[in-house]
Amino acid sequence: MKILANDGISKSGKDALEAAGFTVITEMVPQDQLANAINAEGYVGVLVRSATTVRKEVIDQCPNLKFIGRGGVGMDNIDVAYGREKGINVFNTPGSSSGSVAELVMAQLFDMVRSLYDSNRQMPTNGLAEFAALKKKYGKGAELRGKTLGIIGFGRIGREVASYALGCGMNVIAYDRVPSHTPVKLNISGFGSIDVNVEQVEFHDLLANADMITLHVPKQDGGRAILRAEELAMTKKGVYLVNTARGGSIDENALLDGLNSGHIAAAALDVFENEPTPRQDLLSHPRISLTPHVGAATLEAQDRIGLELADNIIAMFGVQA
Ligand code: NAD
Repeated sequence: MKILANDGISKSGKDALEAAGFTVITEMVPQDQLANAINAEGYVGVLVRSATTVRKEVIDQCPNLKFIGRGGVGMDNIDVAYGREKGINVFNTPGSSSGSVAELVMAQLFDMVRSLYDSNRQMPTNGLAEFAALKKKYGKGAELRGKTLGIIGFGRIGREVASYALGCGMNVIAYDRVPSHTPVKLNISGFGSIDVNVEQVEFHDLLANADMITLHVPKQDGGRAILRAEELAMTKKGVYLVNTARGGSIDENALLDGLNSGHIAAAALDVFENEPTPRQDLLSHPRISLTPHVGAATLEAQDRIGLELADNIIAMFGVQA
């Protein structure tokens, strides 16, 4: 059986599928030739990431397509409900990149409390002439240990972040609109795993008590922001914010106002309202640490995504790897 991995697949995923007897083609077919290629080559399934779209028109033209697999989380590029109506198995790999996003959150927390993002901007140009002044400027760092991290959205990624933060000696509180009291697993190399109950609090209590806040909720109805001026006003003065969830989960105007007034100490953004053309005043703000939506983009996550896709397909066809 032939599979088209139109946006690629990790070597581990391809190997697992080939060991189970599938033929995996990774040469990208242009979008306008996708349906023709699926029919002409007799692909049983198509795997995509975010580049290829599989809309109603393609689904209608490919009656023999058995599955559409999305490597990653969001399925905005696939007409999921329509595909399922037509009997096509449509799936993604929701858990594969949670650890990668959680590590980026921790990196940004460490980065912000020591002003690394700003120091890295200043040292190449001013490090020679103004070493003493910069030493003074960045010499008032803080530690994460003992600080309270507030996690908004306590699903897969939120729970991974909790595990890392607990491991660093932070206090963790969480808010989710559907509270879950399943303990967080903290894996300690050479020791094993410990179950930790994270305190679930009301939204307003999280805002009032967290030294640092990280968001892990999906895009809200109508793109509504979770943190607007009103909510930011309830946070502690000197709060640190991280947004790796969706652009606009923190209102960008309110964020800039909070930073400029000094209420917010610093913010880290991986996601932006206007991707791929974020606002220049966010990009050039001296107290925002920036990444271009790479939260899930680690080699390890790509491997896990490939293997999860392969496992799904192998289970679907009941074949042995
Ligand atoms: P998840 O579904 O496992 O968890 C989301 C949690 O948010 C759920 O527990 C849900 O109940 C909760 N929630 C939803 N709306 C809420 C609200 N208004 N208030 C409080 N809680 C609310 O999802 P996940 O795998 O943890 O991913 C979270 C989000 O992270 C994704 O939807 C996506 O937007 C984002 N993400 C970003 C990257 C990146 O590259 N930066 C990568 C993967 C995912």
